[in-house]
Amino acid sequence: MSRPDIPHRVDLLVVGSGPVGSAIARRVHDTVPSARILMVDLGPRLTERTGLHLHNLPVEERREPQTKSQGRDPATAPGEDGALAKKYADRGTHLLKPRREGEPEQDGMPAAVMSSNVGGMGVHWACTAPRPLDSERIPFLTDDELDAALEAAEALLTVAHDPFPRTPGGQLVLETLRDLFDHEYPEGRYPRPMPLACSPRPGTRPHWAGPDMILGPLADGEDSRFRIAAETICRRVLFEGNRATGVVLEHLPTGAEYTVRARAVAVAADPLRTPQLLWASGIRPDALAHYLNDQPKIVSSVRVENGPTAGTGAQGSVEFTGDIRDLETARFQVPFAAPGRPHHGQVITVDTSPVQGAEPGLFVGMVWYGVKEIQRSDRVEFSTSEADAYGMPKMTIHYTLTERDHEVIAQARADQERIAAALGSFLPGNEPALFPAGSSKHYQGSVRMGSTDDGTSVCDSSARVWGFENLYVGGNGVIPTATAVNPTLTSVALAVRTADAISAALLARF
Ligand SMILES: Cc1cc2nc3c(=O)[nH]c(=O)nc-3n(C[C@H](O)[C@H](O)[C@H](O)COP(=O)(O)OP(=O)(O)OC[C@H]3O[C@@H](n4cnc5c(N)ncnc54)[C@H](O)[C@@H]3O)c2cc1C
Repeated sequence: MSRPDIPHRVDLLVVGSGPVGSAIARRVHDTVPSARILMVDLGPRLTERTGLHLHNLPVEERREPQTKSQGRDPATAPGEDGALAKKYADRGTHLLKPRREGEPEQDGMPAAVMSSNVGGMGVHWACTAPRPLDSERIPFLTDDELDAALEAAEALLTVAHDPFPRTPGGQLVLETLRDLFDHEYPEGRYPRPMPLACSPRPGTRPHWAGPDMILGPLADGEDSRFRIAAETICRRVLFEGNRATGVVLEHLPTGAEYTVRARAVAVAADPLRTPQLLWASGIRPDALAHYLNDQPKIVSSVRVENGPTAGTGAQGSVEFTGDIRDLETARFQVPFAAPGRPHHGQVITVDTSPVQGAEPGLFVGMVWYGVKEIQRSDRVEFSTSEADAYGMPKMTIHYTLTERDHEVIAQARADQERIAAALGSFLPGNEPALFPAGSSKHYQGSVRMGSTDDGTSVCDSSARVWGFENLYVGGNGVIPTATAVNPTLTSVALAVRTADAISAALLARF
């Protein structure tokens, strides 16, 4: 393995190549004609096209790249039993710490995961991309500012609003959801098809959007102004006074170290490792790694009995590959509405059995994400003496559910029970279950944005770290509100604003 050729000086250094890092890089590249950009990721490159979503590959070609994403410590990788392991870690992700039998499921976030590969979680994600609503929105951005950023994010992520052709089974499920819930929503809001980051392809599965779609032409290969360094960890952000001056990188296979000078630095290294890198660099605002916010996740599956299940395209039982997306025929949302409906519900229809040996028919998978009461005490602690598998400060999560959280969870279970009663019955063993803390993979708040530097936020509304002229953070960790909605679209929208702030600053000085 030879040392990569890494430039000594760039205009923008981006840490992390997931959807958020890619959005920042692409937008600055398009806006600032001469900007030289280096994006680094500690994980390996998985596909020739940078950041291709792995679900665009045939099932048998996914396992190897998924395994490469699962980090350096085999004790934190998911087991072979995809369906059960998913409760703690999906394929393509790895746990923050090894799973210990008998550990409480809701304290300390035992299912906290990350992905370590070029493209990050963005090559594994389920592509659900709804907009935040009501109290989920960022209170100090105007509606026009947030909506413009969300629109730009939808374009980068190629969001389709009604991607699946309607089937009789899907129609039955949607009508049932509307009968049950329409009256609980304000005017104009009701259960509907889920917006998904994908390009529909008639007669076959959609093309799922990974960071490659965000990067556009930059995903096809090197560009004279844009470079991706894989298997290259950022160990430290360097700074003098209120300016980031560059970063210290290490190419992991060779141990070669580099100091790269940069005019702006954006850290989009996920909601756990972004605060980890800032902390390791000696940048420790009061709110750093506090206010950690995971959406409680409630899951169940229903067999449809009360309706025209014949002719729904039932194909008999199939081997469950561990990912329901290979079987789904429609995805619907039961949207969030403050204050009465504090969840975002995701309903997936499958016209064939996801359980080996079950009768063919129409099945429905339900995942409800609830809002979490935000607490300063929910936080990541960084060790001053122990290191993780990458040699960075070891992380321990402190995290508890409140009484209010348990009420939200009970309401989610009740929703799923109403749907099951209307459609048929729960599959045995698949009654509504609260999954372990961390299993949402939607961690937020650890580098949250705020309107003033009052100790409760890490960055301003452009995600610029308080007290710095040119250091930015990105990712779900930036979201300051208690959301139930899947957060990636919001994070990419906030990254669009970050990119525009970086571009303006770079253009002002060229
Ligand atoms: C199976 C699965 C399904 C999901 N489904 C959905 C969904 O349907 N909808 C939704 O909104 N979200 C979903 N998510 C979450 C979604 O993927 C994330 O919100 C999104 O990827 C976040 O993007 P990001 O760029 O901020 O971080 P990531 O995609 O996590 O990328 C961060 C990158 O930073 C790199 N990195 C970390 N530390 C360093 C360092 N020190 N130096 C260099 N590189 C570093 C990592 O290797 C990683 O590649 C899902 C996730 C998974 C795993």
